Amino acid sequence: MAGKLIKAPRGTQDILETESYQWQFVERMALETAGLFGFSEMRTPVFEQMDLFKRSVGDTTDVVQKEMYEVRAEKGKDLYGLKPEGTAGAVRSAIEHNLLKGALPLKVCYITPCFRHERPQAGRLREFHQFGVEMFGAQSPSADVEVICVARELFQMLGLKDITLNINSIGCPTCRAEYHKALTEYFRQYSDQLCGTCLERLDKNPMRILDCKSPVCSELAKNAPVVLDYLCDDCKTHFEGVKTRLEAIGIPYQVDPTIVRGLDYYTKTVFEFISNNLGAQSTVCGGGRYDGLVEQMGGDPAPGLGFAVGLERLLLIMQAQGIEIPKPESCELFIASMGEAANIRACKLVNELRSEGFYAECDLMGRSVKAQMKYANKIGAKYTMVLGDSELESGTAKLKDMESGEEREINFQQELAQTLYDITIQRATENLADDFGGEALASMMEMK
Ligand code: ATP
Ligand code: MG
Repeated sequence: MAGKLIKAPRGTQDILETESYQWQFVERMALETAGLFGFSEMRTPVFEQMDLFKRSVGDTTDVVQKEMYEVRAEKGKDLYGLKPEGTAGAVRSAIEHNLLKGALPLKVCYITPCFRHERPQAGRLREFHQFGVEMFGAQSPSADVEVICVARELFQMLGLKDITLNINSIGCPTCRAEYHKALTEYFRQYSDQLCGTCLERLDKNPMRILDCKSPVCSELAKNAPVVLDYLCDDCKTHFEGVKTRLEAIGIPYQVDPTIVRGLDYYTKTVFEFISNNLGAQSTVCGGGRYDGLVEQMGGDPAPGLGFAVGLERLLLIMQAQGIEIPKPESCELFIASMGEAANIRACKLVNELRSEGFYAECDLMGRSVKAQMKYANKIGAKYTMVLGDSELESGTAKLKDMESGEEREINFQQELAQTLYDITIQRATENLADDFGGEALASMMEMK
């Protein structure tokens, strides 16, 4: 009896073998870009103690109150959470392994799946992926700007257009106290209109109301006092320092006093990169400072800051902007064979070629030569060669260029790898000529 089909959970996406090259490309670019700024990859578990997220992300945030996935081993007692973001784990790990006692600033980055129980829609999933960076130990506004530059550099490397940077400062605990008072007073006038969650937040954490997605709360938030008017001198100076440096480097930005970010740990600078290719989910990257978080999580006090880019959203923008991601090289040579002895020889030859670094294939299906050639075509093999009894006897076979149809006779035992190597070099030279123009290449050769 056929089993019932089990489907992937709602809000998740399979990354199929035909599209994974796009992810590999973007992830490679992300790690390479981070590397240019001195950020090294860190990998932390997909699940952590539930308290880690409650204490860092904050237990009055939407992420913790509404979106967490809880995990409990069938036989265990401990409650874990699937990570909804990457900072909490990175901070935990940095403290646990005494990384903050080493050379500062500490610069780490990560690529990780994240889990949030949200209503799935385009660019909003329940399992999604983030590339993020975190920097610890640096107070200076230069650090804020360096972190912003990592994201910007990545977008530029990938060729994204029309990504705008919005920044704000949400102050430190000192200035926040005054601001909280003003916010509570403001929202209290409308306590009969606020949603249930925000009513609870009114005394505990009124800034979270600014981040509420319910239509009434977000309408009321529009006229709420803005945090920029409440900054203490230290926070003001820091924010000015960030803006001055952005201008000095030539990075366009806008100050958006409504950005508060959805996670509790932020202090001072917060920022978002926005794209108009994403519809309602316009934020492709969010980040900021979290100067109190390390201490709050049990480490010695150390400032921190970082950002996370949503990779699904990044790929959506690339798609919308028609940015082509280079496809992996297709099969260099398919060796078709007729009969057992020829198939054995084909197996041996493709293995030798792979040791030389060529992508080569032979028949694994016991197909007719005609069907093997059809398959070679399907996988886009650049060259094919047919081995039969007479080829085995003579030691020579015809190497066929599948694009031009041209054939050349070669001694397959002695010349195969060398011939493929020559072809590869020739193709690379032609591509260079295409990219730079024949004349430029000719002058380059002359210079040599
Ligand atoms: P949003 O306002 O869109 O819900 P957020 O403020 O909750 O975003 P962050 O917690 O700052 O997002 O996460 C950083 C980035 O991760 C976002 O800018 C976005 O690109 C991506 N992201 C967040 N939640 C999701 C999700 N459910 N699905 C896909 N990507 C997401
Ligand atoms: Mg969100």
